[in-house]
Amino acid sequence: MPTDSIEALSPGDVLSNDQLCEIFGCSPQGGMRRAKKTNTLVIVTNHIESIYEDRWEGNVIHYTGMGQTGDMDLTFAQNNTLNESPGNGVAVHLFEVFKRKEYTYVGEVVRAAPPYQAIQPGADGNDRKVWLFPLQLRSSRLPAMSQEAAKEAFEKKEKQAAKLPDEELRQRARNAPAKTGSRPTVTTQYGRSPYVAEYAKRRANGTCELCQELAPFQTKKGEPYLECHHIEWLAAGGEDTIENTVALCPNCHRKMHTLNLPSDKKHLAQISKGL
Ligand SMILES: [Zn+2]
Ligand SMILES: [Zn+2]
Repeated sequence: MPTDSIEALSPGDVLSNDQLCEIFGCSPQGGMRRAKKTNTLVIVTNHIESIYEDRWEGNVIHYTGMGQTGDMDLTFAQNNTLNESPGNGVAVHLFEVFKRKEYTYVGEVVRAAPPYQAIQPGADGNDRKVWLFPLQLRSSRLPAMSQEAAKEAFEKKEKQAAKLPDEELRQRARNAPAKTGSRPTVTTQYGRSPYVAEYAKRRANGTCELCQELAPFQTKKGEPYLECHHIEWLAAGGEDTIENTVALCPNCHRKMHTLNLPSDKKHLAQISKGL
């Protein structure tokens, strides 16, 4: 457990639901939780399970109020608490969920502008008016989300989208904000040798080492366009050696990252080892 008091929390700390409830003295459920004991309001933006479309713009989150179906009421329960903060003395603390049951602390937020209305589908799929609260991080910068977590959360949402009936999908697609949010992410960069990459390309000699087709186009310099790929991914502990590196056409490269079939890996390993 990273800490036992609100003051000691740092952005990026990950809490279980039990820990969160203990520190703030709030109820274990809901996206907006009022805690009388600490005079706080805990709000949660859930990237994997929520029907809401919260989004970041710089260090301002456009946070959707409460109410699953029907038009949202600004004077209802914690919408009212949030709307009247900070004038009501309630400190608002924001958490994000990227993985089930993991609450990542973002920081204290304050209202940056009055709430405004938008159309979003409710839990029943019907359009309704929601209230969005622009909330600004008080002191901390928005902690960077790992690229991996961002990708996982997006893929979960894609899977949910794939299950929607056509009509609901159309409504959601139509009402999606045209101006998308953004937030910083961190990615792990693996160093790689330019000599190994060039060696693999020369060995391929303009032909994809998986499908054996000619490179699909030439670069501006007139060289066949192929991409280098590590048979055992660097992220999985693979080595940056000529035996582990192949030159592929973009289709086959994407196929390896989507399917990574053992038969293809075996075939590529034989080619890269000159067998
Ligand atoms: Zn290919
Ligand atoms: Zn690759």
